Amino acid sequence: MSVNSERLLDTFCTLVRIDNPSGHEAAMAAHLIERCTALGMQCEQDAMGNVIARLAGVGPPILFSAHMDSVAPCIGKQPVVRDGVVYSAGDTVLGADDLAGVTAFLEGIQAAKERGQPHRAAELVLTVQEEIGLKGARGLDYRRLQAKHGIAFDLNGPVGNICVGSPAHDSFTARIIGAAAHAGVEPEKGISAIQVAASAIAAMPLGRLDDETTANIGSIEGGKANNIVPDVVVIKGEARSRSLTKLDGQWATMRQALEDAAARFGARVEIDYTRHYAASVLDPESSIVQLVSRAVRAVGLQPELVVTGGGSDVSIISSKGIETANLSMGYDQIHSVNENIAVSEIEHAAQIVLNLLTTIEV
Ligand SMILES: [Zn+2]
Repeated sequence: MSVNSERLLDTFCTLVRIDNPSGHEAAMAAHLIERCTALGMQCEQDAMGNVIARLAGVGPPILFSAHMDSVAPCIGKQPVVRDGVVYSAGDTVLGADDLAGVTAFLEGIQAAKERGQPHRAAELVLTVQEEIGLKGARGLDYRRLQAKHGIAFDLNGPVGNICVGSPAHDSFTARIIGAAAHAGVEPEKGISAIQVAASAIAAMPLGRLDDETTANIGSIEGGKANNIVPDVVVIKGEARSRSLTKLDGQWATMRQALEDAAARFGARVEIDYTRHYAASVLDPESSIVQLVSRAVRAVGLQPELVVTGGGSDVSIISSKGIETANLSMGYDQIHSVNENIAVSEIEHAAQIVLNLLTTIEV
């Protein structure tokens, strides 16, 4: 009972060659629907373009989650296999994030079917637009799903790592409004929005604040010319934490810094604030973590519980009541043209899928 390495590599390379920019996943979706249908799965696509493929089997279904899109540049991707590692030809990303995850699920499901014995039921959810704000996962109609727990393969690190914590994520846009004036003739009539912004940012704790909290000012824009006191500056920033209390505290500090600086200089500030998703934390003793740990051990790997500072579809899926573990996929240097992945890592992931399907426990 094993996965087919040659077929797995062929599947991966075929998927890599399909263009899949966020928001333009139609070709990828059509190809995957064809494959899943050939595997005897029942497929549907929602209005967003997300694909749900159902594998009939024993017991309540387990959710399998991966995303179909890749970050730019991802048009014309060409896989190059060297010494058991797949690289991009160099002009684009490889797209192992997350096509390796998709491949692992397809191969694991096919291998489970080939055994000719009862296997567990599964719901494979392949989302669109993960890379541009988890839009597919957000737009998914969760009433179409029965699964109460599941896994995703969409995390850095070697296969075997299981994510038990990812942060809540907030972002904001602050528009500081001062007053324009001639900088040489009557600067006292102006209120420099740049000075207000500088003063506000200087008062903010930023960077890595503790082991579960980070904050960043990502962009600042404003001012027109040397001889004009700048009247408008727009600042964009974010904060993340696995602790909601800390995140709320950090956001309150950042907001206060903006309001205090504006008041000090007599400026105004307009703030747009968004909570993108809540923290997702799994109990190491939960049934899904235990189940996945057993599957990881069964394929000869050592499960390692890790936390991440990033977000993924799992942040959204978990918030919908489906307890989902994000598993490392073993890809390297993602979101760059140097992205690569060892074939053995995709094999390991497919073996974990196969194990989850064929070890029938609920
Ligand atoms: Zn990803």
